[in-house]
Amino acid sequence: MSFYLQWQQQDWDALALTINSKTEADVVQALAKPKRDWQDFLALVSPAAESHVEGLAGRSMQLTRQRFGNNVGLYVPLYLSNLCANECDYCGFSMSNRIKRHTLDETELERELQAIKAMGFDNILLVTGEHETKVGMDYFRRMLPRVKSHFTYLQMEVQPLDTAEYQELKTLGLDAVMVYQETYHSRTYAQHHLRGNKTDFRYRLETPDRLGQAGIDKIGIGALLGLASWRVEAAMVALHLDYLQRTYWRSRYSVSFPRLRPCTGGLEPVSPVGERQLVQLIAALRLFAPEVDLSLSTRESAHFRDNVFPLGITTASAASSTRPGGYAERSDDLEQFSIDDDRTPQAVADALVTKGLQPVWKDWEPVYSGIVAENEVATLPKK
Ligand code: SF4
Repeated sequence: MSFYLQWQQQDWDALALTINSKTEADVVQALAKPKRDWQDFLALVSPAAESHVEGLAGRSMQLTRQRFGNNVGLYVPLYLSNLCANECDYCGFSMSNRIKRHTLDETELERELQAIKAMGFDNILLVTGEHETKVGMDYFRRMLPRVKSHFTYLQMEVQPLDTAEYQELKTLGLDAVMVYQETYHSRTYAQHHLRGNKTDFRYRLETPDRLGQAGIDKIGIGALLGLASWRVEAAMVALHLDYLQRTYWRSRYSVSFPRLRPCTGGLEPVSPVGERQLVQLIAALRLFAPEVDLSLSTRESAHFRDNVFPLGITTASAASSTRPGGYAERSDDLEQFSIDDDRTPQAVADALVTKGLQPVWKDWEPVYSGIVAENEVATLPKK
């Protein structure tokens, strides 16, 4: 039993038709409900809901404050390696890209950890390309205890692993794993994942199942928005989330909203997501799943992030360098994709405070407190 079976029962084109057929009445009805089901979510991400984005955002903000207080957790991604044995045509780390490759050794890792610690973080996300021989379990066994000795909360975004491997890493301090499906449309997946283990669509799709079975505290899912219809991708993410929450109810969940960005290789999105549409998606997810973390990375601009933080976001990266060794020694080469919000962590924290929010430097306990003013909704992008 895994999500794969449920995924097989979905027809992508029929789902697109269902979403596009949702009416304004469906949207109004979904907005008015105290608790929404998947059909309601389809209405909230439909074209019919685009004229209701302000209403969605206001309700999303209310629900977020009720559940999470004013807190926004800040984390920092640490790129351990840009080695990769996969070919994904949207990524600067793809194996055929002629870039300098590097994997941090113990000394370099220590230097990075010191530099990150000095910025104030206590929540770290370890990121690698996917290279199971050079950056696999042996490497993780050596590095995780070192990282954990400095940080309370340890997340990873690396190649999918087996259940027993996740169980072992949990004993070494692993708290959370982010694993994005990229696209839930299998033919599109095959078009963009050309070589390497990542070509195995099913193994990746079943990774959150293995994480749940391994008892990992938090599981992050999402799609790379732009590879295929973003509304249908959103529907699949919501379906996946709902399945995971019912099946592995001891774990917590987070959803991210990465939009396809320019990289070496220069792939253009086939289904671009505008800023207003991204707000629609974030708010719809919050209305569908009031208790999950919603995360926004530095792929988005400072201006956009500042406006969207109050509307439903509960975790955010800051000061992201996608270059292995990039914190102790700043430079732009070896990057995976370009960063839009390059403010210092303190500047991001100050911006949160300006919005009436509370930056939290480690994975946080929910606090129930006041509500950010509804007039924040007035700052929504208009298109
Ligand atoms: S997306 Fe991940 S697996 Fe694909 S090339 Fe980039 S780092 Fe490698």
